[in-house]
Formats: sequence, C-alpha cells, structure tokens
Amino acid sequence: TDAIDTPEKLPENPAPVAPGRDLMSKFDGLITERQALLDSGVTDPFAIVMEQVKSPTEAVIAGRDTILLGTYNYMGMTFDPDVIAAGHAALDQFGSGTNGSRMLNGTFQDHIEVEQALRDFYGVSGAIVFSTGYMANLGMISTLAGKGEYVILDADSHASIYDGCKQGNAEIVRFRHNDVTDLDKRLGRLPAEAGKLVVLEGVYSMLGDIAPLKEMVAVAKKHGCMVLVDEAHSMGFFGPNGRGVYEDQGLEDQVDFVVGTFSKSVGTVGGFCISSHPKFEAIRLACRPYIFTASLPPSVVATATASIRKLMTAHEKRARLWDNARRVHGGLKAMGFRLGTEKPDSAIVAVILEDQEQAVVMWQALLDNGLYVNMARPPATPAGTFLLRCSLCAEHTPEQIERVIGMFRAAGQAIGVIR
Ligand code: PMP
Repeated sequence: TDAIDTPEKLPENPAPVAPGRDLMSKFDGLITERQALLDSGVTDPFAIVMEQVKSPTEAVIAGRDTILLGTYNYMGMTFDPDVIAAGHAALDQFGSGTNGSRMLNGTFQDHIEVEQALRDFYGVSGAIVFSTGYMANLGMISTLAGKGEYVILDADSHASIYDGCKQGNAEIVRFRHNDVTDLDKRLGRLPAEAGKLVVLEGVYSMLGDIAPLKEMVAVAKKHGCMVLVDEAHSMGFFGPNGRGVYEDQGLEDQVDFVVGTFSKSVGTVGGFCISSHPKFEAIRLACRPYIFTASLPPSVVATATASIRKLMTAHEKRARLWDNARRVHGGLKAMGFRLGTEKPDSAIVAVILEDQEQAVVMWQALLDNGLYVNMARPPATPAGTFLLRCSLCAEHTPEQIERVIGMFRAAGQAIGVIR
C-alpha cells in the first residue's frame, strides 16, 4: 500500500496504541511487580551477572568474590583441563559452528563421538543428542505419544516436560507428586489398549527430593505403559555407574527412555535421550525439535564427550559431592532452617522461606556476604513456596562449606528466620 511504500506519510506523532491492542500490555502486572521489588532496594535476583568465573565454585558478582552455591555444576567439570583442551581442539579443527540441522549438514565427527560416549556411559544401544535438555523433553514426549495416546506426568514436573505435552497431540493426565497410589488410580481409568507414556524425574529440582521410582515403574508396567525418566539432576553421582536414580534403584531393564542434559554434571550445554529400544533411531526421522534446529557447535560436543568419559570413573568426586550435600543439609537443619527434604536425598538443598519478602531479604543478605544461591518462586516452585536453593559441587572445599554454613547462620539470625 501507499502507507508502506512512502513512510514519510506516516504521522509524526502517532497516537499511543489502544491498550486493548498493545500485545505487550499483558506484561504490565509483571513489570509493576518487578519495579516494586527493585524500589525496595534489593538487587534483582533474576539479573545476576557473573563478571568473572574463577572456578566451578567461585565467581565475581557485583565486583565481589562470591561462593557459587546455586549452579548445577554438580561434578565441577567446567574447568577440567581435559574438557577444556577437547573444546579447544574441536574449535581449531572444525570451526565455531555447524550451520545446520543434524539431519542435513550438522552432524560432525564430534556428534557421533558424543553419542558413542553416552552409549558407553549408560550401557545402552541408542543415544540421540539434542541442542538442550529442554528440547530433548520437548522432542521425546511430543514424538513418542501421539493422537489417541496418553502422557501421564507428575504434577511437579519440569516446565520442559509440560511443554513437551503441549507440543504433542496426546491426552495429558497428571498425578499427585510422587504419589504411587494416585498414579495407579489414574492409570486404571485409562483405556487398556491405548499407548501410554509415564514421565517421571529421578530428582525433582525444586525441593531436591527423589522419586520412588521402583514403585512407580512397577505400577506403570502393571498398566502396560512405557516409562521415560528425566535424570537431569542425578547424572554422575547416583547409582554404581552414575547413571541416575533409576540405576540406583535397580531399574535399568525397566525404564524405556532416559532424558538427560549436558548443562549440569557434564558442565556444558546440550540434551539427550538414551534407550535400548530396537527402533530408537527412528526418532531422528520424526522428531521436530531434533530436525528443525541447528546442531550444537563441535567444541560444545567435544567438551561433553571428554566430560562424560571422565564421569565414568569419577568415584572420588562423587564421594566428595555427597559429603558436601550431607554437611550443608545437616548444618542448616541443625540450625533450624526448614528444608525441602528430611534427609540429604540429592545434591540440592532447598531452604523454604515464609514469603517472597523474607526470601528476597535473605537472598540479598547472603549475596552481600559473598554467597550466591538460587532464588526460586512460583510458578517454578511447588505449592506456592519461596525457596533459596543450594546446589552442591564436588569441588566445594571443606573451608567453603564451613563459610556457607556460617553465612546462613548470620543471615538467618539477623532476619529472624532462625533463632
Ligand atoms: N529437565 C529438568 C528436570 C531440568 O531441571 C532441566 C533444567 N533445569 C531440564 C530438563 C532442561 O535442561 P537444559 O538446561 O539442558 O535445557
């Protein structure tokens, strides 16, 4: 039209878009809430910048040396010299990126090698790498369960599992968090002949609790379901080979698919699914989040390969991580903090605060003293809770752990969370 071809005809001072037609006006509530938080004088918990990263457990934030207790760097692999060297070599030999989908020009030698490393790590016949763990769940769930079939998921599932359900065409059924009886009841109401996928997580990342997978998988199998377990928060330190909670609970021949990520214990970015199903490779031909996006850069997958292979024998690191988790959990519990789990079930220790205000003030006090933890709030958290989530790293030193406990004591007493 004329108006598009001749911009000089546009009014110089266009009237503001009517609120009803401004698509951005739906965010007004969020903008106001965030501004109110900032006006109260706190640092924005969702705008932290790591100005310098010195090690897996230390960074400079706002010009200050800070202990990192809110990353998913469980095994501390991000600065491993072999991992870094592998990344450098791949960058030099294969360049900075693949410029395409795995299905076309985006499969490099490094992608083949990382999938082999995963097969070796998990002792399975099939491994498929995605660009993130989020996309692995999105792709696997939406591709496995189609029209007329069912996905049955825990109410506290990660957003990527929920989004995988939305992306697909299956019917969605939710059961109460970690409730075996509720799972059984809901499965009993579904048509016996329909295809069903039960989706579980080994470790639930908000509270750090683990799933009673043994009982849940038994119920799923009784009802003829296939089972997918997301082991994002257990890789490297649960089970004899670090495969996850499902290995720890002796379920390797019963879980059909395991989803994981490179963004936590592996220490880079990427996602994957492993399986010994004889037809598993067909996923590559049908899975949209695998096909319609560019593959990971060769340097990223090369670091993942080096890291995964080292994790296969990282027994000492594993022991240190569990020791750190036990000490922080025990220390905070003894001081009277309310925690997400009774026992140190995983490498996540979630401190439950009363409300947003208390959580933010406590979070800020810890940061001001040189400790970074994750602040988590609804809708990410279950039951409307406000959490300060601590995730331990194998590389936290005994001295750092003591300082962490001391900082929680000082901040908790000053704010009145503990006596
Ligand atoms: N599953 C779970 C349980 C997670 O916690 C996360 C990330 N926090 C993901 C999947 C997604 O992983 P990624 O960071 O690789 O996208």
